[in-house]
Amino acid sequence: MVNDVFGRPLGSLRLSVTDRCNMRCGYCMPEESYTWLPKASLLSFEELDRLAGIFLGLGAAKIRLTGGEPLLRHDLPTLVRMLAARPSLGDLALTTNGILLEQHAAALKEAGLRRVTVSLDTLRPDRMLAFARSNRHGDVLKGIAAAGRAGLGPVKLNSVIIRGFNDDEVLDLLSFGREHGHELRYIEYMDVGGATRWRKEEVVPRAELLGRVAARFGTVEPLPDPGSPSAPAERFRLPDGTVFGIIASVTAPFCSSCDRSRVTADGTWFSCLYAEQGMDLREPLRLGRSDAEIADLLTQAWQRRSDRGAELRLGTPDRGALYQIAGLRADPRREMHTRGG
Ligand code: SAM
Repeated sequence: MVNDVFGRPLGSLRLSVTDRCNMRCGYCMPEESYTWLPKASLLSFEELDRLAGIFLGLGAAKIRLTGGEPLLRHDLPTLVRMLAARPSLGDLALTTNGILLEQHAAALKEAGLRRVTVSLDTLRPDRMLAFARSNRHGDVLKGIAAAGRAGLGPVKLNSVIIRGFNDDEVLDLLSFGREHGHELRYIEYMDVGGATRWRKEEVVPRAELLGRVAARFGTVEPLPDPGSPSAPAERFRLPDGTVFGIIASVTAPFCSSCDRSRVTADGTWFSCLYAEQGMDLREPLRLGRSDAEIADLLTQAWQRRSDRGAELRLGTPDRGALYQIAGLRADPRREMHTRGG
């Protein structure tokens, strides 16, 4: 096990398999056009699997596949099968917008995927069309249902709540999760790269979410989660047993227990979602460095890790968007859709 400066282990890895997405959510990809990673720079499945093996060797037992939209990567179940065959893997999950999930759920399960998290910000197709420029709301709902049928549960639903966009659906989204047996997690709107329109007034804070849920459904009981102290979501239980979560990265950052790092689809490794610089792992992979040499690079970098990006943002006076569009065009690896969320 490798620990950073604050004693945080290198525990979980988010592997982005593409920077492309088939939605244009206003909090992540609001622009008309993007600078994409060059095709030749994208890691092959063999390279992704090899990197995963090196991270697992350093103690990272959990892997989450993400993107962009990971289901846009051709033949994803093949990668899932390669990763699932690694004996030291503790958990293998996928975060998706759900549009293509119905057609892939059974194959992903069969290949060894354990769980999925689906982003669902609204129950209204017209809203999704206006906010995320996609008319595929029906497919998202079918994808969620197919994941449940395929045994990719417990299915989690992620809802980014934004004042003036979907804050009037806070209770409806929870009711939807409750009715279908899926765990809803509210996510505070974050000022990550890509969120060029971020304004602090549009963040609906954890405290307000809890107040509204309690007023409607009764006492909200916090749940201890001793099994996974580094999990980003705080979990709560309603009197009827419904469990939901809140990821309060803006008003109550969890940097002190964050064990996550991210590899972009072109093999750049970031030790924090807010980190300015990443480490290029593609070059050592392609130059023929051994696993032990790459593990050594990772170990040395993690032992120097002192990131606490969300906590530092909390102390920023006149907090606004992290990057303007020119800064993102200059380096697309600053984008949330490249880092994987
Ligand atoms: N396309 C997939 C999806 O929609 O889940 C995976 C990639 S997406 C970047 C991963 C997660 O990041 C999603 O749950 C999304 O809602 C979240 N996300 C993106 N931008 C965000 C922001 N500004 N604040 C909070 N969450 C954000």
